[in-house]
Amino acid sequence: MQQPWIAHYPEGVPARISTEGYQSLPDLIGQACKKHGQRRAAVFMGSDLSYDQLDRHADAVAAWVQAQGLPAGSHVALMMPNVMAYLPIMVGVLRAGMVLVNINPMYTASELRHQLEDARVDMIFIFESFAATLGKVDQALRPGKVVLVSVGDLLGLKGMVLNFAARHIKRMVPAHPLQGAISFGQVLRQGAGAPFSAPEQSLDDVAVLQYTGGTTGRPKGAMLTHGNLVANVLQMQAVARPVLGPECGAGMVMLTALPLYHIFAFTVCGLFAMHAGMCSVLIADPRKLDTILAAWRRDPVSIFPAVNTLFNGLLNKPEFAQLDFSALRLCFGGGAAVQKAVAERWHKVTGLPLIEGYGLSETSPVAIVNPTNATEYSGDIGLPLPSTDVVMLDGNEREMPLGEAGEVSIRGPQVMKGYWNMPEETRASFSAEGYFKTGDIGIMSPEGRVRIIDRKKDMILVSGFNVYPNEVEQVIMQHPGVLECVVVGVPSAESGEMVKLFVVKKDPALTEAELREWCARHLTGYKRPHEIEFRKELPKSNTGKLLRRVLRDEAEKGAGA
Ligand code: AMP
Repeated sequence: MQQPWIAHYPEGVPARISTEGYQSLPDLIGQACKKHGQRRAAVFMGSDLSYDQLDRHADAVAAWVQAQGLPAGSHVALMMPNVMAYLPIMVGVLRAGMVLVNINPMYTASELRHQLEDARVDMIFIFESFAATLGKVDQALRPGKVVLVSVGDLLGLKGMVLNFAARHIKRMVPAHPLQGAISFGQVLRQGAGAPFSAPEQSLDDVAVLQYTGGTTGRPKGAMLTHGNLVANVLQMQAVARPVLGPECGAGMVMLTALPLYHIFAFTVCGLFAMHAGMCSVLIADPRKLDTILAAWRRDPVSIFPAVNTLFNGLLNKPEFAQLDFSALRLCFGGGAAVQKAVAERWHKVTGLPLIEGYGLSETSPVAIVNPTNATEYSGDIGLPLPSTDVVMLDGNEREMPLGEAGEVSIRGPQVMKGYWNMPEETRASFSAEGYFKTGDIGIMSPEGRVRIIDRKKDMILVSGFNVYPNEVEQVIMQHPGVLECVVVGVPSAESGEMVKLFVVKKDPALTEAELREWCARHLTGYKRPHEIEFRKELPKSNTGKLLRRVLRDEAEKGAGA
């Protein structure tokens, strides 16, 4: 198929990439560890971790994981914010030949229960202050092996003080009934120097189960293979070289404020950064803008991947403009649409345009991106990556002509193998020609540039996080005082979109405060309704289906008024 867009990438960007020479993700990262030994791999709370140390700790994790007697390919979950231990655990679990399952650390017990049940997790590395959530999950669904990770792990003496303060002064670690759980410190002690057998791995083996609501609401595990993730790292590298140089960023500082459990940060801030020998400055909580500013002051940033809300949040801090931007080479926005006003302000303040990209959990994630050496923010998501075919399909899977809207559909080495244990959903998400149908509606220009118009389904994007109305509605409907409800997304200056809930009461005494308390108990923060409106009835079609679109239009008008 013709690739009109290649002509528009800067000179030197190849039309195709090859994964030849790499056996697996551990191979890709292992080669980088050997090459960059003394370089800093990560900085967390002012402490450094070199590539040599990362390599050694990852070996210890791999040896300990294998010593637990799980067969290769078992599912090992990580439920942690960005802390120093994240990278060695991520690499160690993959080195041991296990499948890594990323879990959102902010999940409630019922959300966690669903994912553990679906993914059949055998072992979990969990941040100790979230252990109480795991404690609420029925014993039968809890993984057999639990490792507790602490904020101070791998930070030396300072880390011991931090751990003590977290446990005894801040009381961050509530009592939990996790018998048999061991600490990450014990894992390192038991695994250090212990032998492990490098598993037989091929690029076609599943490396990561990445949970996503996809386009139909029920969370599904996208099976990303070693080959998918190796390819996406190499594709990113091919397009980043024009601004990061021939070594593609070796020794440069990347600010990792996005959570590593999400595929955007996992691949870009985890794998891509490690492969190139960058130094990842880890931020545990991206809402703490002052922490980000302090980290930037300590280590002037060269590469900054983020979402619109984070760019916007930083621009709204007066101290941001005082930072040193002389090292900046690449500011990469994705996960949700980048707003023009934010992009323009960013360019003005930092001197560098925002480079927008697009992707999904199912595409490892990056599929389409603007040329990294663009001199202006383009307003669209750019061009398909090397080795990536993108077409717009209509409802009958016919290719739309350039310039006409259709469902953005992607074929390339970064596209997942399928959804875990869901053959029907897998079949439905691929066209007969093998394109993954994203559920987003877009237009491709004659030059190959893609613009996203709308999401096909009703997913709401709050600060780059997917919220599925179905899931929220199911929780609300479980409240005994609720008769009917509809959840829609409405525009928000702060978070892009926010969740609005329309409710018809069953119990006339039901209050807004009661509903909010209910949501706080069952839903993680970004999924909770920001606005609640009580109605006597809700609009329905002739067949009795609730008309979400009518309410969304009304809510949008209200928000704009
Ligand atoms: P996730 O699987 O969580 O990564 O979410 C993927 C969804 O995020 C896509 O289907 C899009 O709807 C949305 N998305 C990602 N990048 C962009 C972008 N640059 N512009 C608009 N929407 C985006």
